Amino acid sequence: MTRTVLAADFGGTHLRAAMVDESGRVLAREERPTPAEATAAIVTDGIISLLRSVGPVEGAGPEAVCIATAGLVDADAGRVILAPNIPGFRNLPLTGPVAEALGMPAFIENDASAAALGEFRFGAGRGMRHLLHATLGTGIGGGLVIDRRLYRGAKGLAGEIGHIVVDPSGPRCNCGSRGCLEAVVSGVAFAHRARRLIAKGRAPLLATIAAGREPAGHDLLAAAQQGETAAEAEIRNGGHMLGLGLGSLVNVLNPDAVTLSGGLLGMGEMLLGPMREAISSLAYGPASGTRVLLSELGDDAGLLGAAAVAFERLEDAGRMG
Ligand SMILES: [Zn+2]
Repeated sequence: MTRTVLAADFGGTHLRAAMVDESGRVLAREERPTPAEATAAIVTDGIISLLRSVGPVEGAGPEAVCIATAGLVDADAGRVILAPNIPGFRNLPLTGPVAEALGMPAFIENDASAAALGEFRFGAGRGMRHLLHATLGTGIGGGLVIDRRLYRGAKGLAGEIGHIVVDPSGPRCNCGSRGCLEAVVSGVAFAHRARRLIAKGRAPLLATIAAGREPAGHDLLAAAQQGETAAEAEIRNGGHMLGLGLGSLVNVLNPDAVTLSGGLLGMGEMLLGPMREAISSLAYGPASGTRVLLSELGDDAGLLGAAAVAFERLEDAGRMG
């Protein structure tokens, strides 16, 4: 009989939950819009009721539950410290109420760290020993699998690759620093780049595409694909900066592979070509052979990441018990 866990992925727009087996198969799933401007109690109740609606409760059911969420998480204490998308999530003890309501061990994890472990267990990083995973979306996140285990660091912050500085004189980041990877190459950063191009009058096509509204990263891509060289140069520069960040990390960590997920992958070779070139140009010694792979988990990356964390936690408990 295959073992199963419950997994939840708390995103900015949707709360998703699933029952997942050891091979990464999703056996049942449910989804709801993320409650807007909800209190901590409403959010917690919403998660519990969604998780309840997923799985059959009779028989040999799921053995644990893990919730992946954006933001700062104290995974060992089961507490969400700060979640930018969900104001109700602030110093919120989450796992206690969930464990009590569902009658099984409950865990939380930062979504990018969970994604790293999901990729290692079920996706492009299968069979590897050390993995660096980067989530390239509205923001930039990351996770580390070292010696086949999720690495959390001293305070659970490990893997926050969006806040390594690649351009000290670059744009201001949400974290207060200047020129962080996330401030230079991310969905938000590309929207800034697009705005700047339009303001300087250097991208007439882009201005037409985004007429009457704030430009977004996908407008920059559309303009570049239609031949606007200034737009293409911004994307290629973003890819180069991303490669500088990832290449530096590759030299420190010497992973078997770097895996990538997230919406920015839609920019394709325009972003990824310069990124690969920068990674290779930085590679020190044997790091030049480090593979760069795209996620194989698609839309289920968050759910499978949470499930992977639940299975690792169960295995750790088994080893101790
Ligand atoms: Zn930052």
